[in-house]
Amino acid sequence: MKQSELFSKTQRSFPKNEESVNAQLLLRAGYVEKLMAGVYSYLPLGLLVLRNIERIVREEMNALGAVEVLLPSLHPKENWQTTGRWKTMDDLYKLKDRGGREFALAGTHEEVIVPLLKKFVSSYKDLPLAVYQIQNKFRDELRAKSGLLRGREFLMKDLYSFHANENDMLQYYEKVKVAYRNIFSRVGLKAIETEASGGTFSDFSHEYQVLTEAGEDEIIYCAGGDYAANAEISQAKEGKQCDLGHGPLKKAKSIEVGNIFPLKDKYSKAFNLSFKDEKGKEHLVQMGCYGIGLGRLLGTIVEVHHDKGGIVWPSEVAPFQIHLLSLSGGEKAAKRAYEELQAKGIEVLFDDREASPGEKLTDADLLGIPLRLVSSEKTASSDSFEVKKRDEEKIELVKKKDLVSYLSRPI
Ligand code: ATP
Ligand code: MG
Repeated sequence: MKQSELFSKTQRSFPKNEESVNAQLLLRAGYVEKLMAGVYSYLPLGLLVLRNIERIVREEMNALGAVEVLLPSLHPKENWQTTGRWKTMDDLYKLKDRGGREFALAGTHEEVIVPLLKKFVSSYKDLPLAVYQIQNKFRDELRAKSGLLRGREFLMKDLYSFHANENDMLQYYEKVKVAYRNIFSRVGLKAIETEASGGTFSDFSHEYQVLTEAGEDEIIYCAGGDYAANAEISQAKEGKQCDLGHGPLKKAKSIEVGNIFPLKDKYSKAFNLSFKDEKGKEHLVQMGCYGIGLGRLLGTIVEVHHDKGGIVWPSEVAPFQIHLLSLSGGEKAAKRAYEELQAKGIEVLFDDREASPGEKLTDADLLGIPLRLVSSEKTASSDSFEVKKRDEEKIELVKKKDLVSYLSRPI
């Protein structure tokens, strides 16, 4: 892709009314644009990052045997009355049509998926099953000041699993933990699996927490990795000695990037989602639900992976692997290299803009693409390119004839 053809531009100045690092950097780099507090548009480069995150999430969900659906965002009030959440969910957006009929905007989707499955599940033979989607959620968040970390409209992956008994649900719950660990490590995050409250219907749930000062949560954890709990509910306090000899428990700020809940029959009871066992006896379906906020995940990656120059994308989510900069005197060589790499199927963001070398180098740091290639008068004279990794200081010279094989190696 040619950078001159991108309508989104980088900004030098720091956006006003943005306190969070993720929003500051993503806005300045032209990855997202703000419509109002808690509501963002993804611009072309931001969408490429989001699509990479979605791809990873889909791969891990499909590997769990879950099937993808897409559920509506506009819900009838009655479904939310059935679960009682029309009254109890404070952040639910409610609206009326011209005839005065009331609706909810999807804050989550149990109220849709459970009645939907009631049409298809009737026998033990129909279970277990797992369904997921990647879909917008709407929540009337009071504190939408953290950029992509807390949206009022935001993309979530929500997975729901349905089982004949609690044991089967808990076994699946363990498999989801593995998929979640894979997802977070693949996007370049260390997420701590943290014990959390199960609300009124379960003894426990788990959250995936990423340590960063930008976090709105706090966890108490053992540096040895054998204990972590949300500080709100933790039995153990900061400073208590770890039972396994790893020293005192620590307390730190963190971002909840995902959570998993053993719902049991909370929602199947509300909608009477039941099945007949081998003997024809009726039972309520046992459920689990599992969320990941994709926008929040993207924002968290930026909070964790940046330096004073800008974003430093982990390779698996980067919008491009290679950023080719054409500086004065190196234009011809840069253009030839771009065409050659395109022809070889190697995707490159090509900075072919009319801009000063300083501007291009500063923007490359801000955009955060893993590998920078520079073609200048100096490199052209030696038939080579300057190569630099975004997260290293070292600059290498690579001969033009070696470029394709150099770039074909994993970064
Ligand atoms: P929080 O305590 O941060 O409000 P939550 O408990 O309301 O989160 P869930 O309803 O369980 O979260 O949603 C599942 C996932 O969706 C969360 O783990 C988080 O990653 C993401 N998420 C929740 N609320 C938001 C939001 N306002 N903006 C972006 N992502 C969100
Ligand atoms: Mg919430």
